[in-house]
Amino acid sequence: MVFIFLLSVIFAIRSESNDDSQIKVTILHTTDMHGWINGHLHEPELDADLGDLYNYIYWKKSRKDPNEIVLAFDTGDYTQGTGLSDATPVQGEFIFEQVKRIPYDGLCIGNHELRSNGCIDNIANNVAPFWRGKYLALNARHVDSSKQLGGKYFTIDLPNNVGKALVFGFLVSSCTHDTKSVLLTVSQSLKDPMFNQAFSTPNVSLIICLCHIDTPNPDVELIRKFMKSHKPNIPVVMLTGHSHLTRIETPTPDDYVMESGFYSNVIGNLQFHLSKSASKGRYFEPLVEMVDYTQSWVDMSKEALQQSAGFNSSSGWDTPMGSSIKAAIHKKVAELNLTRQIGCSPKHFSMFPKGFFFSSLYDFVLDTAFPKMFKKQQLDYVFSLPNLVFRYDLYKGPIVEDDLYAVDPFNYGLGVFPSVSAAHLKKVASLLGSTVFSSNLKKLADDEKVNFVFTTNEAANVQSKFEQVAPGQYKWNAVGTSVRTLFRDYVISNLKC
Ligand SMILES: [Zn+2]
Ligand SMILES: [Zn+2]
Repeated sequence: MVFIFLLSVIFAIRSESNDDSQIKVTILHTTDMHGWINGHLHEPELDADLGDLYNYIYWKKSRKDPNEIVLAFDTGDYTQGTGLSDATPVQGEFIFEQVKRIPYDGLCIGNHELRSNGCIDNIANNVAPFWRGKYLALNARHVDSSKQLGGKYFTIDLPNNVGKALVFGFLVSSCTHDTKSVLLTVSQSLKDPMFNQAFSTPNVSLIICLCHIDTPNPDVELIRKFMKSHKPNIPVVMLTGHSHLTRIETPTPDDYVMESGFYSNVIGNLQFHLSKSASKGRYFEPLVEMVDYTQSWVDMSKEALQQSAGFNSSSGWDTPMGSSIKAAIHKKVAELNLTRQIGCSPKHFSMFPKGFFFSSLYDFVLDTAFPKMFKKQQLDYVFSLPNLVFRYDLYKGPIVEDDLYAVDPFNYGLGVFPSVSAAHLKKVASLLGSTVFSSNLKKLADDEKVNFVFTTNEAANVQSKFEQVAPGQYKWNAVGTSVRTLFRDYVISNLKC
């Protein structure tokens, strides 16, 4: 009897001093999908589509441990990259309809969502309202102040009395955007009075920042330090994007930065235990620690997703919602004619200005295809394209409609400065820096005259450089066509298998 009494006293003391709580947190992260929701025709190892992504998140959430929470987030740039994103009347309208079916716990806007007013309006009228505050855009606004491109923050209840997670969402401080959006810098947005309300939320144990900002950008560290200055005892997870790289950083033992690739190549998978101590830490608030973290990239192949979700084979993998998403994608691909063959490439062209393993698409377009379509009149032509205008390699073999959108999702217009002095153009070229020019520019004698063709998205920039070099001397005209149209009508027709 005495023994039982002693045991119960010991147990009472232990449980009283041991009211620390701990949970396992799994964070799944996608970013910069740019319309790649239908696998990769030319990279067959990446065969998972958005239906498989649904299945993966669904199974990870349904098969979680009792003491675990599985959270899925995306950090923007859903548009500009494939026909499913850009061949629809409103850019991204189909992508965002399908993304609504993914059980994300939070999303934030990307800069490519602001490239067309149609997409901006669709987000304000349709996407942001659907997510009921979980689609975040703290520093991006609609010009119409009665409309919102996203919420400012929200909270997630964590299990096992661990408290709440605060979730914020940011966009890069500077990017090109269409007229219906207004962008604040990150540092301006950190002055928002909303933060007082957010930080006074009781029982916060974790801060998650969805950042469509690349990890080395000083704004990422600015945001993390801002969070730490208000909540020094709370771990901060920064989910980043925009650079299209995969990388992680651990600025302190309790903070984690994860940037998870692009074009549906990987899913970032971060796991840790969130341990809340009963004893008070700094500023008399409970100390919360991130312990035993592990991180991995799960390739977007069906096999890798299935393995990561605990399946030994594909048996039982499909879900009714996953299958419905796949069916919607296949129907849309047929409707937009995206698998129609439009040509055949004899070799693999790299999307970069200097091809290391493959020939550069720039060299072919600027030196072979463009000169053929702009037939020389009295004057020769010099052509230019901005760096990163091509977004995907052109693969050897059959070219289908969708390849056109993957290689050139932007469809910039073209303009021409007629009768430009080669000496002036060479100076403008050095001022433009990252623009790529046709190779004939170097061969021109300074006293020669040429017509100079450029993409009109750069019009203000190019015009300002001419003003610097030869004030008031040059004005450009629209050519009346676009890079993608010329690509379809001239570049592809010049390639034969
Ligand atoms: Zn991107
Ligand atoms: Zn971006």
